[in-house]
Amino acid sequence: MRSGIVAIVGRPNVGKSSLLNALVGQKVSITAPKPQTTRHRIQGVLHGDNAQIVFVDTPGMHRAAKKALNKAMNDAASNSLHYVDLALFVIEAGRWTDEDEAVLERLKSVKSPVALVINKVDKFSDKNDLLPLMEKLAPLREWAFVMPLSALKGANVNVLAKQLMERMPEGPPLYPEGQVVGHDLSFTISEMVREKLMRSLAQELPYALTVETEAVEREGGLLKASAIIWVERDGQKKIVIGEDGAMLKRVGTAARRELEEMTGGKVFLKLWVRVKEGWTDDPKALSRFGYEGG
Ligand code: GDP
Ligand code: MG
Repeated sequence: MRSGIVAIVGRPNVGKSSLLNALVGQKVSITAPKPQTTRHRIQGVLHGDNAQIVFVDTPGMHRAAKKALNKAMNDAASNSLHYVDLALFVIEAGRWTDEDEAVLERLKSVKSPVALVINKVDKFSDKNDLLPLMEKLAPLREWAFVMPLSALKGANVNVLAKQLMERMPEGPPLYPEGQVVGHDLSFTISEMVREKLMRSLAQELPYALTVETEAVEREGGLLKASAIIWVERDGQKKIVIGEDGAMLKRVGTAARRELEEMTGGKVFLKLWVRVKEGWTDDPKALSRFGYEGG
């Protein structure tokens, strides 16, 4: 039996969460077309015949850590690299930015092996077009291996999983068989609601809000949960609630449906919107909302 921990790192939006979900074959991390969707360290577990891999999906690394929130996200991303057996550095096919460069820089101090994953290859019909980037990156550091793939289409994801399993050290499983998600239900509920909000709201607003699940209880086959959406200003609260509560209702319904699909039972979800000024720059509030570091 082999078992180990693999970190997934990279700038926001390269597809780290999508890759995690594709690897473990189930939605454990929320994804969205906007950067900074992932703020927490999320774990997913891949169970193979003779191997188990625990993945940590790190928040994107940010260059300018001006606000406490961004600093907390950077700390969480760096700290998660100290104890891993391998780190996957995910980049986007055909696209190398200053932010990728900054992540590469941070990886210099990492002693664990680092593999390069070039995601979104489905965007290129001619795979030869990927070669220039691969040739540029190959000499930049020692790579455990280089793997082009598409998390979205599932291309090469199994090949990656096999590579990883072979590289894990010998050891007993870290999680019981069948457990895919390493975090609890209230966290999943918060993330589910936050994903729906991010998909429904305008560009700037999502970063000014966070979701806190305040209660979860089971009543027979029914799962009852309530969650608070924290925003920074009254104006933001109005937007989240929407005209006659339409936005909040839409978000609540979408989150509830997905939770019902996930749990296989009926869900009752109550959402509240509250204002807490300046929470994104308040270390105490950050710690209360579950962000590390800060
Ligand atoms: P993260 O910020 O690195 O976790 O990125 P996400 O997993 O949230 O993905 C960001 C965006 O890229 C989403 O819109 C995904 O659907 C998209 N995406 C992820 N993987 C792929 C892929 O293999 N191909 C394409 N075309 N898009 C992808
Ligand atoms: Mg993500």
